[in-house]
This record gives sequence, C-alpha cells and structure tokens, in this order.
Amino acid sequence: MTTLDPAARAQVHLIDHPLVQHKLTLMRKKDASTSSFRRLLNELASLMIYEVCRDMPLQDVQIETPLETMTGRVIDGKKLVFASILRAGNGILDGVLSVVPGARVGHIGLYRDPQTLQAVEYYFKMPKAMNERDVIVVDPMLATGNSAAAAIARLKQCQPRSIKFLCLLTCPEGIHTLHREHPDVPIYTAAIDRELNDHGYILPGLGDAGDRIFGTQ
Ligand code: URA
Repeated sequence: MTTLDPAARAQVHLIDHPLVQHKLTLMRKKDASTSSFRRLLNELASLMIYEVCRDMPLQDVQIETPLETMTGRVIDGKKLVFASILRAGNGILDGVLSVVPGARVGHIGLYRDPQTLQAVEYYFKMPKAMNERDVIVVDPMLATGNSAAAAIARLKQCQPRSIKFLCLLTCPEGIHTLHREHPDVPIYTAAIDRELNDHGYILPGLGDAGDRIFGTQ
C-alpha cells in the first residue's frame, strides 16, 4: 500500500459533504443498476462542482430589481471548459452542465499502446481561445494517473488560464502520478481509496466506471 506524500495530499480537495458521501456509497454497491448509477453520478457531479467553482472570479454588474438599481455579481460561465476524458468522463458532463450551463465542453480520447504502455491520443477537440479559459478536466476515476497526466500535458499545449481535475474516486498512486507530472493542478475528489490492484483498479473502488455508466459490463 502506498502512503500519501504530504505535498501531494496538499493539492487534494476532499469533498466530504454528507450528501456527497451518501451518494458515493450508493454508487459503490455492486447491485446498483445502470440507471441508478448514472443518476447518482449526475447528482454527485452537480454537488461537487460547487466546491470546484468556489474560487471562480465574479464580476460586478448593474441590474434593476423591481424596486431599484443595484450592483450584483456574476460569473462568466462561458470562460469555463469541462474537458471530458473519454469515455467515462462523459458520465460527469450532464451533472456539471446542469449547474454551469454556459460552460464549453472539450473531449480528450487516449488509449494505452500495449507495446510501449504509453498513452496515445486518438481524439482531441477543445473550444477556441483556450488562453482565455479555465479548464476542469473530468474523469470519475483517478487510478494509475497515467491517462490524466497525459491528458493534462496535451491540454497545456493549448495554454489555458488554469486547470483543475475533478474525479469521484482516487487512490494514493493516482494522486502521486498526477502530482509528480503536474504539481500545479489541484485534484477534487469525493474519496481517497486504499490502493490500486495489479489490474489498475481502485480498491475498494466501484468497479469499471465506464461499464457501469454505459451498461457495457
Ligand atoms: N477505471 C475504472 O473505471 N475503475 C477503476 O477502479 C480504475 C480505473
């Protein structure tokens, strides 16, 4: 079992709100149906994005209430990009977009070359003007950390204003890899599980997130 390095742990925001923990526990159960797994993932994503957006900049705007003029504060949701790591990341999109509907969406597809074990890109599409945007990379599981690290390295070529990583579950190995490659990227998660097994699955985990979201077990 890997112990967590304090510098890496300091970059992790553990979202321990009771509603988040409750829904995560329901998702972990092996007998949760595909439809309830997907619904819970959407609900969790919409709860967790509140915490990820906590430090988003606000702008003053003059508005008219029915009684008088006032200065309100708004976020510029269009400056935000949710970058989904295919395919399981797509399971998080509906939930986060329900809270920030103006956000843009990018997709990153990677597979692991069986010979070199390196991540190979097969799809990459981001909105224009990434240098004006803040990116939240989404993937339910931060397991080995290799695909997350490769996805973020590719994203950095677009020079976005900032990058955060949102997952449901992670483990010490995934946190170490991501922190080693990208110490500037904060990680938001609902749980840090015990360890990875020899097949790259998180223990105790919730199984294969993509299969459980899309019913492809
Ligand atoms: N990907 C998953 O879907 N589950 C794991 O436990 C690890 C990686």
